[in-house]
This record gives sequence, structure tokens and C-alpha cells, in this order.
Amino acid sequence: MRFHDSMISLVGNTPLVRLNSVTKGLKATVLAKVEYFNPGGSVKDRIAVRMIEAAEQSGALQPGGTIVEPTSGNTGVGLAIVAQQKGYKCVFVCPDKVSTDKINVLRAYGAEVVVCPTAVDPEHPDSYYNVSDRLVREIPGAWKPDQYSNPNNPRSHYETTGPELWEQTDGKITHFVAGVGTGGTISGTGRYLKEISGGKVRVVGADPEGSVYSGGSGRPYLVEGVGEDFWPSAYDAKVTDEIVAVSDKDSFQMTRRLAKEEGLLVGGSCGMAVVGALKVAEGLGEDDVVVVLLPDSGKGYLSKIFNDEWMADYGFLEEAGTSAAVGDVL
Ligand code: PMP
Repeated sequence: MRFHDSMISLVGNTPLVRLNSVTKGLKATVLAKVEYFNPGGSVKDRIAVRMIEAAEQSGALQPGGTIVEPTSGNTGVGLAIVAQQKGYKCVFVCPDKVSTDKINVLRAYGAEVVVCPTAVDPEHPDSYYNVSDRLVREIPGAWKPDQYSNPNNPRSHYETTGPELWEQTDGKITHFVAGVGTGGTISGTGRYLKEISGGKVRVVGADPEGSVYSGGSGRPYLVEGVGEDFWPSAYDAKVTDEIVAVSDKDSFQMTRRLAKEEGLLVGGSCGMAVVGALKVAEGLGEDDVVVVLLPDSGKGYLSKIFNDEWMADYGFLEEAGTSAAVGDVL
């Protein structure tokens, strides 16, 4: 009989797919690592498994304990699935810009969700970082994975995503491009690829315009799951060779093209990462292999990115270069 013990053992080993249409005119091969094939539908399942297992080993998480985490949704789904299978409770704290679809998914897996305002400073008592800290103090047996500072976040990518990409490309990968949120994906995967290639693989981060990684102040942007208004310790700036800033409009237009032209119904941070990857690929030759990581599925964004009215309200359906910057009017 061939079966898995539980959904946990299906995490990782996601496929690599060549982009054939949005890459027209480019000489380099551009491959997408499609992370929505993970059981929870995103790359974050990888860190959920590693962070929970490490906390069990260290004793930080005890039988019957509760996992409390500020998360934009995807990390919550991964944690909710692993926690449920192992018998832990979950309470998640989300900013209010996260789609209701994503919040309903967390509740479907049995987690409790607390929604907080996006438009306050991280220091504000109602910020989603502070609310989660308060819940950790108040709930007995609570453990906060803190994906922003947990070394097992980048470590999970160093141990799984990096080796998978090296093996899947037969060591031919020359460039790795990923969006930067906590920085775990790019830091862990990038570090592995640099080490195994003797420093040959170039690591490029894609970041929403206005976020700190590309020199901004944390100005609001609409793409979810990436960009920050502070520097998390999960992010290792030494690993990244370059950061490309991408506008919301370019991110969302590319996200829609990926669905229409490549059969890839993926989230907005995927469109953003692909815009970055195509910029990187522009000057490259036939022997170059650019891998771009696509963190999640588009199903959580149907009422936003894949809704013409929502896109038109922000001027995102217009030709590039004609709309005002979104951050200015929010
Ligand atoms: N895209 C989405 C949709 C995400 O949820 C995340 C995680 N915050 C990322 C990209 C960025 O990944 P990382 O946190 O590893 O930098």
C-alpha cells in the first residue's frame, strides 16, 4: 500500500515549471517553484513543520499547548494543519488587509483568528505584533513561533527548498529570485545555493515599492505577505545580492498574466517575484537558469486581484505608468 502517514509528510518536494509565455524574447530559462502544491497551499508549510518540531524538541511547546502567531494567513494555515495533527490549539492574529477568504480558511482548520488594524505603527498596543505578545502572556501553555526571528524559519529553507532546487536543476541554477517578507525563504534557500555552488548562484529579492528592503519607510502597499516596515532577524542581508522594487500595479498585472498565459493561478507576491525574475533575466544568455519561487495560490485573492472592479478602482487595469502611486492615496 502506498500512503502518507498524515498531511504533514506531503510538505515540500514541490514541482519546478518553466515559464513559456511571459518570458517571450528572453534567452535565459526561467523556472517557477510552485509552492501551492504544499498541503496548506503555500511555502509556509515548510517553516511550520520545522518550527513546531524544534519547539517540541526544546520543550517550548508542551502537550496540550497553544500556538499564538501574528500571521498574514499562509503561516497560519501551515501551523494550523501541523498543530491539529499533533494535538495543539492555535490562535492567530492578522492585519485587517488580509482577505476574508484567507481568514475563513484558518477558521476551517479549527484555529481562532483575531483581526487587528493595519494602519497603526508596530509599537501601537493594537498592532498585530503587540496583540499577539499580550495573548502569549495571557494564555497558559502558549508558545509563539515568531517566524520573524525564529532561526528555524530560514533553516527549513536551507534544509529543504535549497537542496530541492539544486537537485531539480542538476546544479544548473544561476539565479534565485524570491519575494521578501520575513526573509526566511530568500535567506535560507539563498545561503544553501551560495554554499553548494561556491558562491556562483546570484540571489535577488523582490520587494513591494515602499517596503524597507528596497529603501522605503514601510509605506502602505497592497501586495500581501511581502515587504516590511522593520528589519526581521530571519532576514540575512548578506545572502541577497540585489533587491528589485516592484509596484502593486506591475505585481497584480503579472499575477493575472500568470493565470491567463501560464495556467498558474497564484497570489500577488508571485506576480511581484516574476516581475523581478524577468528583470533579472533580461540581460542573461541561454545558459542561465533563473528560478523564481511562487509562494501561494491565487484562490485567496479572487475578490481582489482577479476581480476587474477592484483592479479598476485602484487604476491597476490601466496601461503601465498612468496611475498615481497607491501608497499616496491610502
Ligand atoms: N508571499 C506570501 C504570500 C507570503 O505569505 C510570504 C510570507 N510572509 C512571502 C511571500 C514571503 O516569504 P518569507 O516570509 O519567507 O520572506
